[in-house]
Parts: sequence; C-alpha cells; structure tokens
Amino acid sequence: MALLDNLLTLHRVDSQVRALRTRVTSAETYFNAQEKQLALLARQRTELETQIKQLQANVHALELDQAEATGRVEKLRAELNTSTNDKQYKAILNELKSLELHRDEVVKRAVEEMQRSEDTKKRLETHDATIVERKKVREVAKAQLDECMKDVGERLAELERERERAADLVPDRERKLFNLIADETEGEAMAEITVVSLRHREFACGACNIEVPFETFARLSSNSDAAVQCKACRRILFLSETSRADSSKDSKDKGSKDKDSKDKDSKDKDSKEKAAIARDKAKFEKTKKL
Ligand SMILES: [Zn+2]
Repeated sequence: MALLDNLLTLHRVDSQVRALRTRVTSAETYFNAQEKQLALLARQRTELETQIKQLQANVHALELDQAEATGRVEKLRAELNTSTNDKQYKAILNELKSLELHRDEVVKRAVEEMQRSEDTKKRLETHDATIVERKKVREVAKAQLDECMKDVGERLAELERERERAADLVPDRERKLFNLIADETEGEAMAEITVVSLRHREFACGACNIEVPFETFARLSSNSDAAVQCKACRRILFLSETSRADSSKDSKDKGSKDKDSKDKDSKDKDSKEKAAIARDKAKFEKTKKL
C-alpha cells in the first residue's frame, strides 16, 4: 500500500484511540475531583472537632473558676457577719464586691463559650450531611469510571494494538511527523485537499481552508508516496479517491476531444465540482459540530 493510504489507516485508528482515551480520562478526572473534595471535607471535619474540644475545655475551666469564686464568696459573707470592726467590715465588703464582679464575668464568658461550642456542633452536623451527599456523588463517579473502563478498556487495548500495527507500516520519518502533528492537533494530523475549482486550479486545505498550490495537488494526484504538509496548519495533505480519479480523467481528457464535447465535459465537471464543494461543506459543518 502507498504511504498516504497507510497514513490514513493510522489516522483512522489513532483518532479512535484518542476518542476512547479522552472518555476514560474525563471519567478519571471527575472521579479524582470527588476524591479530592472528600479529602478536603475530612480535613475540615477534623478542624471542627478540634475546635469543639477546645471550646468544651474552655467551658470546663470557666466552670471550675466559677465554683471556686462561689465558695470564696460564701466564705467572705460568713466573715462579714462575724467582723468585729468597721475597717475589717469594709475590707471584706470590697473584696466581696470585686469577687462577685469576677464571678459574673466568668459566668458570662462560660455562657458565650458554651454558645460557640453549640454553634460549632451544628456546623459539624451540616458538614457531616455535606460529606454524606459528596460520598453519594463519589459513588456515582466511581460507577461511571468502572463502566467506562469495562466498556472502553478492552476495545482500547485492541485499538492500541491495531494502531501499533498501522504505525509499523509507516516509515520512521513520516511516523514521527504524524505523531507530532497528531499531538499538536489533538488527533487531526491529516487534512483532505478541497477542490475549490479544478478548472481554475484552485485548491484549499480541508482543515484550515488556506489555499493549497496546484503543484501540491498535482504531486499528490500522481504520487501517493509523499507526505506533503499544509503550509499553514502543518497537517499532512491527502486527496480523496474522487479527486484523484477526477484529476487523472482530466489529464487523459485533455487534447483527445473536440471543442464541443470539451465544453460539454467542462459543464459536467462544473456541476460535479459544485456537488463536491457542497459535500465538503456539509462534511466541514459536521466536523465543526463534533
Ligand atoms: Zn491547513
């Protein structure tokens, strides 16, 4: 088989391999994103638990402080009743007042810390609900990935072997070139030459629409063993079977017909060209939609 035919076979298999790989990769990416989310949620949960423990420890310490102050207040009140002189009475009364102020402050802070602890517990509950939901999403993502691997895995391995066989039929230099452009263009290494007008010798790259010189068209019409690249997008150019047949018919026709039949012939060709352009256009639109 000619080089371009082998390259086209490689291109066909390569595109299928790429499409399947993309399916697997996006399923993997989605699943990994869920795993990452869950890991983050788990870290946040640990932080919330630590906060709750700290708040509860604070409350406990304040409660001890409050109990101690209460004991001391009771003791001072007893002392107040048994005070023997005015000076002693006033001193005890002052201490009692400041102690009571301190106790009120401790109670106030304990209530605040308790409230914060309750709030954090509620946040933890909400957080746990989020984790439950996220785990469900992760399960769905895992099932999708498993299904994708089951569907695609075997076919992908098969296609990869087929791709290897196809690549073996292409010489080193052209294979490297193909791989390079296929990577650059995400699997669109080949571009069909669009015949804009055979009569006016106008041709274009089917991928980027930039004009292709007549020499390239002529070279590919007579020789399928050359890898010629589009000057603009670097894709490897090829001619469809129809274009190749048309061009050889065109060269055979030349000179062998009288003027009338030539006119008729060119009219035929015009309508053929129009049909071909319409076909190419439809193909282009289709590709664009993909
Ligand atoms: Zn191009």
